[in-house]
Amino acid sequence: MVELKTDTSIDEMYEAGQVVGRALTAVREAADVGVSLLELDEIAHQILRDAGASSPFLGYRPSFATTPFPAVICASVNNAIVHGIPTGYRLRDGDLVSMDFGAELGGWVGDSALSFTVGTPRAADVRLIEAAERALAAGIAAAVVGNRIGDIAHAIGTVCRTAGYGIPQGFGGHGIGRHMHEDPSVPNEGRPGRGFPLRHGMVIAIEPMLIGGGTDGYHEAPDGWTLRTNDGSRAAHAEHTVAITDAGPRILTAR
Ligand code: MG
Ligand code: MG
Repeated sequence: MVELKTDTSIDEMYEAGQVVGRALTAVREAADVGVSLLELDEIAHQILRDAGASSPFLGYRPSFATTPFPAVICASVNNAIVHGIPTGYRLRDGDLVSMDFGAELGGWVGDSALSFTVGTPRAADVRLIEAAERALAAGIAAAVVGNRIGDIAHAIGTVCRTAGYGIPQGFGGHGIGRHMHEDPSVPNEGRPGRGFPLRHGMVIAIEPMLIGGGTDGYHEAPDGWTLRTNDGSRAAHAEHTVAITDAGPRILTAR
C-alpha cells in the first residue's frame, strides 16, 4: 500500500533528511587515505546522537539477511555495490567509496547515499560517479505528479545504459516514511508510462546503482550483506529521499 504524506509530515521528514545530509557530508570530508571505515561509522553515529536521532540501519534484518546489520553506515568500497559492512579496513589511495546512510528522527526516516574517491582518483571512477549522479538527477526530474514509477525507472536506466554501465537487478529505490522500506518499489530500469501513478504526498528513495564493467551480475559476499560485482569492476551508488509534490520534486536529504 502506498501511503501519501501530509505537507506537515513532509516538513518533518525534511528534518530527518537534513540529519542524513549532515552525516554524509561529514563522512565524506573525513574520508581520506588511512582512515578506517569504522572511524567513518563512528563519525556518522555521533551526528545521530547529537541530533537525538536513531539509525534505521543498525540492527536491521530484512528477510534476505542471516544477521542484523551491525553499523549505522553502509560502506561499499571498489567492487562492492551496496550494503558493505564497515570494518577496520583503512582507505587506500584511489579507492572508490559508496556511503549509504539513514536517520530516524521524530518517527520519520531519511535515506541517502553518495559515492566518492579517496586520494588520487582514477578517471574511470570519476566518470562512473558522475553517471550515478546524472542518473539520480534524471530520476528526480521524472518524479513529478502525472508521471508513473516506470518513468523514473526509465529515466535512470537510460542514463546508465547509454553510458555503458551495468545495473544490478533486484535492488533499487523504495517508498519511505515511518519505515525505511515502504511501497512502492522504484526500479532502476523500466518502461515509461507503466507502474504506480505519482501523486502529491508520495515520498520515495531514488537510488541508482551502476556497475562500471557494464555487466549486471553481482553476488553476496560471505559476510551475508555486501553485494559485489561479478566482473570485479567498480560500482557507484547515489540516492536521495524525494517528496513528490504539486510544486515539483523536493529533495529531503539535500546536502
Ligand atoms: Mg540508502
Ligand atoms: Mg534506500
